[in-house]
Amino acid sequence: MEITPTKIAVIGAGMVGSSFAFAAMLKSLAAEIILIDIDQAREEGEVMDLSHGLLGTDTGGVRRGELTDANNADVVVITAGAPQNPGQSRIELLQTNSKILQSITNELQNIRQDTIVLIASNPVDIITHLARQQLKLPQEQIIGSGTYLDSSRFRSLLATRFQTSPKSVHGYVLGEHGDTGFAAWSTVTIGGKPVSELVGEEDKNNIQNDIRHAAAEIIQRKKATYYGIAVMLTEITETILRDQHAILPLSVGPNGMYGISDISLSLPVALGRKGIEKIWELNLPEPEMSALQSSANVLKEALASLGAISSDG
Ligand code: NAD
Repeated sequence: MEITPTKIAVIGAGMVGSSFAFAAMLKSLAAEIILIDIDQAREEGEVMDLSHGLLGTDTGGVRRGELTDANNADVVVITAGAPQNPGQSRIELLQTNSKILQSITNELQNIRQDTIVLIASNPVDIITHLARQQLKLPQEQIIGSGTYLDSSRFRSLLATRFQTSPKSVHGYVLGEHGDTGFAAWSTVTIGGKPVSELVGEEDKNNIQNDIRHAAAEIIQRKKATYYGIAVMLTEITETILRDQHAILPLSVGPNGMYGISDISLSLPVALGRKGIEKIWELNLPEPEMSALQSSANVLKEALASLGAISSDG
């Protein structure tokens, strides 16, 4: 019997990709981590730097690779693409990053049929949707990191306010990972207690704004965000590789749930080694249901504009 060690391929070894590789290496999630980047010097430098820390981890190896090497990975994490500049929205990255995605998926046409593809490149919901169309894999094996990072920011803000740990706060930001993503207050509990009624409308708006502008605030100060998303990507990858069936808010195709189809956006999903096991359907009240529809509409418009631009040449 052929033994195949667990492999994680990271496509895009920039700030997000290398930070994820570092976190995954420390958590010993795979026997081998393969970094793939068109910037060869960057790729080599990151591989050398990470390899020099292997001694302190249980990861077998870190090496560079070609795009086609990702065809044989257990999890492929796509972080290639332009990041946001100060003042730029995620959707404004669509033109550039959709071309980069196509150049990547062209090389992944022989992908192993049990590989899970996890996307972080922005605008993550649309890039995930395009990857679904371009890769020959079951739809449940292609996911975007979606609002998991926004949900983590939400939980941290509430933890500070209620003087507890983010681990004791549950609740989701849903919809777009971007300007229309919204804090779903109906889903929030702290230590098992619903807290929506304990927070006034003004505070709710302030928390929503803090989540929405978190990335811009960080980018303004240090040019990019990467540690937070790296930890979230590591959590998602661990959930997959250890087949944990955890419920996480990730970018998926709702396939008609909530009346939404033909786009990807974040909903809570049960996740395991086979990918999305099920979408965890919520009984969302108004105005959350309308907010979800608005996110879907904005994403559909952006996707349609891409089609219009491509067909115009
Ligand atoms: P970066 O510029 O540091 O790294 C991007 C890397 O992609 C570069 O090294 C570049 O050479 C590489 N690349 C470009 N085209 C490629 C190709 N065809 N094949 C392989 N590699 C290629 O940017 P970053 O800060 O790491 O951000 C990467 C992406 O992640 C951006 O789109 C950013 O907006 C996104 N991001 C997403 C989240 C999230 O929550 N989903 C959070 C932060 C950043």
